[in-house]
Amino acid sequence: MKSALTLDETRQMFLYVAKNIIAIQDLLGEADRAIGDGDHGVGMARGFEAVEAKLNSGSFNGLDELFKVIGISLLTTMGGASGAIFGTWFRGGSKNLAAQMIFDSEHLAWFLNDGLQAVQERGKAKVGDKTMVDVLAPAAAVAIEMANQPLETSLNQILVAAEKGMESTKQMVATLGRAKSLGERSLGHPDPGAVSTCYILKFMRDAVIQAELIPPDRA
Ligand code: ADP
Ligand code: MG
Repeated sequence: MKSALTLDETRQMFLYVAKNIIAIQDLLGEADRAIGDGDHGVGMARGFEAVEAKLNSGSFNGLDELFKVIGISLLTTMGGASGAIFGTWFRGGSKNLAAQMIFDSEHLAWFLNDGLQAVQERGKAKVGDKTMVDVLAPAAAVAIEMANQPLETSLNQILVAAEKGMESTKQMVATLGRAKSLGERSLGHPDPGAVSTCYILKFMRDAVIQAELIPPDRA
Protein backbone atom coordinates (compact mmCIF):
# COMPACT_ATOMS: atom_id res chain seq x y z
CA MET A 1 0.00 0.00 0.00
CA LYS A 2 1.19 3.46 -0.89
CA SER A 3 2.41 5.30 2.23
CA ALA A 4 3.51 8.59 0.65
CA LEU A 5 4.38 10.32 -2.62
CA THR A 6 7.59 11.98 -3.73
CA LEU A 7 7.38 15.60 -4.87
CA ASP A 8 7.32 14.55 -8.51
CA GLU A 9 4.66 11.90 -7.87
CA THR A 10 2.63 14.63 -6.13
CA ARG A 11 2.97 16.77 -9.26
CA GLN A 12 1.79 13.80 -11.32
CA MET A 13 -1.13 13.23 -8.95
CA PHE A 14 -2.37 16.78 -9.62
CA LEU A 15 -1.87 16.33 -13.38
CA TYR A 16 -4.17 13.31 -13.02
CA VAL A 17 -6.65 15.40 -10.98
CA ALA A 18 -6.53 18.15 -13.62
CA LYS A 19 -7.11 15.76 -16.54
CA ASN A 20 -10.08 14.14 -14.82
CA ILE A 21 -11.70 17.38 -13.60
CA ILE A 22 -11.52 18.66 -17.18
CA ALA A 23 -13.15 15.39 -18.33
CA ILE A 24 -16.17 15.80 -15.98
CA GLN A 25 -16.81 19.47 -16.70
CA ASP A 26 -20.30 18.71 -18.15
CA LEU A 27 -21.31 16.90 -14.97
CA LEU A 28 -20.10 19.86 -12.86
CA GLY A 29 -21.88 22.31 -15.16
CA GLU A 30 -25.12 20.31 -14.79
CA ALA A 31 -24.82 20.46 -11.00
CA ASP A 32 -24.48 24.26 -11.20
CA ARG A 33 -27.31 24.58 -13.74
CA ALA A 34 -29.64 22.92 -11.22
CA ILE A 35 -29.11 25.56 -8.53
CA GLY A 36 -26.83 28.29 -9.96
CA ASP A 37 -25.82 29.84 -13.27
CA GLY A 38 -24.24 26.76 -14.86
CA ASP A 39 -20.69 28.07 -15.23
CA HIS A 40 -18.99 25.89 -12.61
CA GLY A 41 -17.88 23.11 -15.00
CA VAL A 42 -16.43 25.51 -17.56
CA GLY A 43 -14.71 27.48 -14.79
CA MET A 44 -13.15 24.39 -13.21
CA ALA A 45 -12.01 23.11 -16.61
CA ARG A 46 -10.43 26.48 -17.47
CA GLY A 47 -8.69 26.55 -14.08
CA PHE A 48 -7.34 23.02 -14.33
CA GLU A 49 -6.17 23.54 -17.92
CA ALA A 50 -4.01 26.35 -16.54
CA VAL A 51 -2.85 24.03 -13.74
CA GLU A 52 -1.93 21.38 -16.32
CA ALA A 53 0.15 23.87 -18.31
CA LYS A 54 2.02 25.10 -15.21
CA LEU A 55 2.65 21.60 -13.82
CA ASN A 56 3.97 20.42 -17.17
CA SER A 57 6.36 23.36 -17.64
CA GLY A 58 7.51 24.35 -14.15
CA SER A 59 10.03 22.93 -11.71
CA PHE A 60 9.25 22.87 -8.00
CA ASN A 61 11.50 22.89 -4.95
CA GLY A 62 8.93 21.83 -2.39
CA LEU A 63 5.27 20.99 -1.82
CA ASP A 64 4.59 24.62 -0.91
CA GLU A 65 5.71 25.80 -4.36
CA LEU A 66 3.64 23.11 -6.07
CA PHE A 67 0.45 23.94 -4.16
CA LYS A 68 1.00 27.68 -4.53
CA VAL A 69 1.33 27.37 -8.31
CA ILE A 70 -1.89 25.34 -8.46
CA GLY A 71 -3.69 27.90 -6.28
CA ILE A 72 -2.50 30.91 -8.24
CA SER A 73 -3.38 29.21 -11.55
CA LEU A 74 -6.95 28.64 -10.31
CA LEU A 75 -7.23 32.13 -8.80
CA THR A 76 -6.11 33.89 -11.97
CA THR A 77 -8.00 31.87 -14.60
CA MET A 78 -11.27 30.47 -13.20
CA GLY A 79 -13.15 33.62 -12.32
CA GLY A 80 -16.47 33.48 -10.43
CA ALA A 81 -16.86 32.89 -6.73
CA SER A 82 -15.25 29.48 -7.04
CA GLY A 83 -11.99 30.76 -8.59
CA ALA A 84 -11.27 32.68 -5.40
CA ILE A 85 -12.43 29.79 -3.22
CA PHE A 86 -10.60 26.88 -4.89
CA GLY A 87 -7.50 29.01 -5.50
CA THR A 88 -7.48 30.00 -1.84
CA TRP A 89 -7.79 26.34 -0.77
CA PHE A 90 -4.59 25.39 -2.59
CA ARG A 91 -2.66 28.57 -1.85
CA GLY A 92 -3.72 28.60 1.81
CA GLY A 93 -3.05 24.87 2.03
CA SER A 94 0.64 25.44 1.18
CA LYS A 95 1.25 27.41 4.39
CA ASN A 96 2.97 24.67 6.42
CA LEU A 97 4.56 22.76 3.53
CA ALA A 98 7.67 24.88 2.95
CA ALA A 99 10.47 22.84 1.32
CA GLN A 100 8.67 19.53 2.05
CA MET A 101 9.65 16.87 -0.49
CA ILE A 102 7.29 14.04 0.56
CA PHE A 103 3.49 14.12 0.51
CA ASP A 104 2.25 11.89 3.32
CA SER A 105 -0.91 11.80 5.45
CA GLU A 106 0.40 14.45 7.82
CA HIS A 107 1.10 16.86 4.97
CA LEU A 108 -2.31 16.05 3.52
CA ALA A 109 -3.85 17.01 6.88
CA TRP A 110 -1.98 20.35 6.81
CA PHE A 111 -3.07 20.97 3.22
CA LEU A 112 -6.74 20.36 4.02
CA ASN A 113 -6.84 22.17 7.38
CA ASP A 114 -4.80 25.24 6.41
CA GLY A 115 -6.74 25.34 3.14
CA LEU A 116 -10.07 25.17 4.98
CA GLN A 117 -9.04 27.96 7.32
CA ALA A 118 -8.03 30.21 4.41
CA VAL A 119 -11.27 29.45 2.52
CA GLN A 120 -13.37 30.31 5.57
CA GLU A 121 -11.42 33.51 6.24
CA ARG A 122 -11.96 34.57 2.66
CA GLY A 123 -15.52 33.40 1.98
CA LYS A 124 -17.03 33.34 5.48
CA ALA A 125 -18.95 30.12 4.78
CA LYS A 126 -19.65 27.79 7.70
CA VAL A 127 -20.70 24.15 7.68
CA GLY A 128 -24.39 24.06 6.73
CA ASP A 129 -24.29 27.01 4.29
CA LYS A 130 -24.39 24.65 1.27
CA THR A 131 -20.89 25.26 -0.13
CA MET A 132 -17.68 23.29 -0.72
CA VAL A 133 -16.93 23.90 2.99
CA ASP A 134 -19.49 21.15 3.73
CA VAL A 135 -17.04 18.74 2.09
CA LEU A 136 -13.70 20.32 2.96
CA ALA A 137 -14.45 20.64 6.71
CA PRO A 138 -15.30 16.96 7.39
CA ALA A 139 -12.47 15.88 5.06
CA ALA A 140 -9.99 18.05 7.00
CA ALA A 141 -11.24 16.69 10.36
CA VAL A 142 -10.80 13.06 9.28
CA ALA A 143 -7.36 13.89 7.85
CA ILE A 144 -6.16 14.87 11.34
CA GLU A 145 -7.38 11.54 12.78
CA MET A 146 -5.63 9.68 9.95
CA ALA A 147 -2.35 11.66 9.98
CA ASN A 148 -0.27 8.63 11.02
CA GLN A 149 -1.79 6.21 8.49
CA PRO A 150 -0.50 5.37 5.00
CA LEU A 151 -1.61 7.97 2.43
CA GLU A 152 -3.89 5.53 0.63
CA THR A 153 -5.69 4.63 3.89
CA SER A 154 -6.21 8.24 4.91
CA LEU A 155 -7.46 9.28 1.47
CA ASN A 156 -9.96 6.41 1.49
CA GLN A 157 -11.38 7.53 4.85
CA ILE A 158 -11.31 11.21 3.85
CA LEU A 159 -13.31 10.33 0.75
CA VAL A 160 -16.00 8.58 2.82
CA ALA A 161 -16.38 11.77 4.93
CA ALA A 162 -16.29 13.98 1.82
CA GLU A 163 -19.06 12.04 0.08
CA LYS A 164 -21.20 12.17 3.21
CA GLY A 165 -20.62 15.94 3.35
CA MET A 166 -21.58 16.31 -0.30
CA GLU A 167 -24.78 14.28 0.26
CA SER A 168 -25.61 16.49 3.25
CA THR A 169 -25.70 19.59 1.02
CA LYS A 170 -28.79 18.20 -0.74
CA GLN A 171 -30.81 18.91 2.40
CA MET A 172 -29.45 22.46 2.76
CA VAL A 173 -30.87 25.75 1.53
CA ALA A 174 -28.14 27.92 0.03
CA THR A 175 -27.50 31.22 1.82
CA LEU A 176 -24.36 32.33 -0.05
CA GLY A 177 -23.44 32.83 -3.70
CA ARG A 178 -25.79 32.64 -6.67
CA ALA A 179 -27.76 29.66 -5.36
CA LYS A 180 -29.15 31.78 -2.51
CA SER A 181 -31.63 33.44 -4.88
CA LEU A 182 -33.22 29.99 -5.37
CA GLY A 183 -33.96 29.60 -1.67
CA GLU A 184 -35.95 26.44 -1.01
CA ARG A 185 -35.67 25.40 -4.65
CA SER A 186 -32.02 24.50 -4.05
CA LEU A 187 -33.29 21.68 -1.80
CA GLY A 188 -32.68 18.20 -3.20
CA HIS A 189 -29.68 19.28 -5.27
CA PRO A 190 -26.06 19.02 -4.07
CA ASP A 191 -23.89 22.13 -4.03
CA PRO A 192 -21.76 22.15 -7.22
CA GLY A 193 -18.59 23.22 -5.41
CA ALA A 194 -19.15 20.40 -2.90
CA VAL A 195 -19.41 17.97 -5.82
CA SER A 196 -16.16 19.19 -7.40
CA THR A 197 -14.33 19.13 -4.04
CA CYS A 198 -15.37 15.49 -3.64
CA TYR A 199 -14.07 14.69 -7.11
CA ILE A 200 -10.74 16.44 -6.47
CA LEU A 201 -10.27 14.21 -3.39
CA LYS A 202 -11.45 11.12 -5.29
CA PHE A 203 -9.02 11.73 -8.16
CA MET A 204 -6.20 12.29 -5.63
CA ARG A 205 -7.07 8.92 -4.08
CA ASP A 206 -7.30 7.18 -7.47
CA ALA A 207 -3.91 8.60 -8.49
CA VAL A 208 -2.30 7.32 -5.26
CA ILE A 209 -3.76 3.83 -5.80
CA GLN A 210 -2.27 3.78 -9.30
CA ALA A 211 1.15 5.12 -8.29
CA GLU A 212 4.06 2.76 -7.71
CA LEU A 213 5.06 1.85 -4.19
CA ILE A 214 7.76 4.08 -2.69
CA PRO A 215 10.36 2.14 -0.66
CA PRO A 216 9.72 2.73 3.07
CA ASP A 217 13.09 4.48 3.57
CA ARG A 218 11.98 7.27 1.27
CA ALA A 219 8.47 7.59 2.70
P1 ADP B 1 -20.32 31.36 -9.25
O1 ADP B 1 -21.06 31.18 -7.95
O2 ADP B 1 -19.62 32.66 -9.34
O3 ADP B 1 -21.18 31.04 -10.45
P2 ADP B 1 -19.18 28.74 -9.53
O4 ADP B 1 -20.48 28.33 -10.07
O5 ADP B 1 -17.98 28.38 -10.31
O6 ADP B 1 -19.14 30.29 -9.21
O7 ADP B 1 -18.96 28.09 -8.09
C1 ADP B 1 -19.97 28.01 -7.17
C2 ADP B 1 -19.45 27.24 -5.99
O8 ADP B 1 -18.48 28.01 -5.27
C3 ADP B 1 -20.52 26.94 -4.97
O9 ADP B 1 -21.17 25.73 -5.30
C4 ADP B 1 -19.78 26.86 -3.65
O10 ADP B 1 -19.38 25.55 -3.34
C5 ADP B 1 -18.56 27.70 -3.90
N1 ADP B 1 -18.67 28.94 -3.14
C6 ADP B 1 -19.28 30.09 -3.50
N2 ADP B 1 -19.16 31.02 -2.52
C7 ADP B 1 -18.49 30.43 -1.51
C8 ADP B 1 -18.03 30.85 -0.22
N3 ADP B 1 -18.26 32.08 0.24
N4 ADP B 1 -17.34 29.96 0.54
C9 ADP B 1 -17.08 28.71 0.08
N5 ADP B 1 -17.47 28.27 -1.12
C10 ADP B 1 -18.17 29.10 -1.91
MG1 MG C 1 -21.90 29.24 -11.10
